[in-house]
Amino acid sequence: MVLSYAPAPESRAVVDIDSSYGLFIDGEFTDAASGSAFKSVNPATEEVLADIAEAGPDDVDRAVAAARRAYDRVWSRMSGRDRGKYLYRIARIIQERARELAVLESIDNGKPIRESRDVDVPLVAAHFFYYAGWADKLPYAGFGVDPRPHGVAGQVIPWNFPLLMLAWKIAPALAAGNTVVLKPAETTPLTALLFAQICQQADLPPGVVNIVTGAGETGRLLVEHPGVDKVAFTGSTEVGKAIARAVAGTDKKVTLELGGKAANIVFDDAPLDQAVEGIVNGIFFNQGHVCCAGSRLLVQESVYDDVLARLKRRLGTLRVGDPLDKNTDIGAINSSEQLQRIRTLSDVGEAEGAERWSPACDLPDRGYWFPPTVFTGVTQAHRIAREEIFGPVLSVLTFRTPAEAVEKANNTPYGLSAGVWTDKGSRILWMSNQLKAGVVWANTFNKFDPTSPFGGYKESGYGREGGRHGLEAYLAH
Ligand code: NAD
Repeated sequence: MVLSYAPAPESRAVVDIDSSYGLFIDGEFTDAASGSAFKSVNPATEEVLADIAEAGPDDVDRAVAAARRAYDRVWSRMSGRDRGKYLYRIARIIQERARELAVLESIDNGKPIRESRDVDVPLVAAHFFYYAGWADKLPYAGFGVDPRPHGVAGQVIPWNFPLLMLAWKIAPALAAGNTVVLKPAETTPLTALLFAQICQQADLPPGVVNIVTGAGETGRLLVEHPGVDKVAFTGSTEVGKAIARAVAGTDKKVTLELGGKAANIVFDDAPLDQAVEGIVNGIFFNQGHVCCAGSRLLVQESVYDDVLARLKRRLGTLRVGDPLDKNTDIGAINSSEQLQRIRTLSDVGEAEGAERWSPACDLPDRGYWFPPTVFTGVTQAHRIAREEIFGPVLSVLTFRTPAEAVEKANNTPYGLSAGVWTDKGSRILWMSNQLKAGVVWANTFNKFDPTSPFGGYKESGYGREGGRHGLEAYLAH
């Protein structure tokens, strides 16, 4: 069933979108030195939302210098307790402005309002609360005798969870005493700029947080800047490798959170209705724009027909359409480039012989849309089983034994996450030991909490974000 695109007026009314936005440097909004700008587009309507300043070398220099000044003169001299007060204040303002943040996130990104309202924004506030609590507890907490911040952190984030990735990066960095220059993704800059206003509202000292908008070149200028001590990147494996090469030989500290191709493994003793909900959440949450998405479903042969029948029935009930409608399950694809990538890989799946299925879907005329899609008859050699599609596309494979499930699940260059569905506790423990993935969910999927570390093995990157480990990445000891 599909809803036609008709933005709910009451949702829109909670956000004011200006026609243009500057960079946020040293506590002020400012134009780019070159005057360059790019456009942010609503992916559900293709309407231009705003012109966004594009930071070049001079602007990145200014932002890094502001962060250095704030680090030397204010933030590194402040007690942990006082840093914590600012973080608590930011967390409270995020809660107060939750509706505005959620609506803007859905408009700029295309994700359903139910997700931005119930998942993204609450988790963003939770991250700031959690790390606020750490700020005055760094000494004697097992980080060494005298844990020190690195200095200026250069942070680059992707478009799939614009606010949440910002929170994963900024909250621990500030709690540990670093100052920050962050570059949001070029297709989703708006909520980072609203967050900059929240920093002003919280009276955060100028220069502690700086936001430079722009495309990949701005990100490159930032991570390669000699004034940046610590680089934190979330994005594609390809760009992550380029960054690792670019900073090799410098003394910058680096953490990389990269791509994934997670296996969601269903055994024949699993509670199947619950597993089907987990499969749907695993791959169709956030249109599948999720690094840890359960994009490979591995089903034990004996329950394959049953699981597929239940899954297809369930997919027939999903609503694709207006991200601002509270009943929408699947929103818009974030950009025309991403839509093209999903289309291309799906066409390759068919050309290589896999069978493609989607529920009946009458997609809106304007905007970037892709129906929930399931490929069966997939083998490990198929590109759709190997490459990250980053869209609402599920590849289904089968297995007979637990060992075969492990072999197939691990047969990927990635190692970010996995899911196991079974009634047997002993099997959960055995599987989680065998699976080469940073996170293994048992009888659930896509569960996040600020207290839990998250990160990958192999080409999914290195370093952990979240929890105590996430703080450690911002401390030298
Ligand atoms: P991307 O790598 O194209 O871009 C990510 C960010 O890097 C953007 O802000 C972009 O402007 C910037 N960038 C591009 N080139 C750069 C360069 N040379 N130097 C510095 N910055 C540069 O990725 P994307 O398409 O925005 O995001 C999707 C990818 O992110 C997927 O592969 C997904 O798996 C991954 N991701 C990983 C995690 C995780 O925690 N592991 C979380 C979310 C997304």
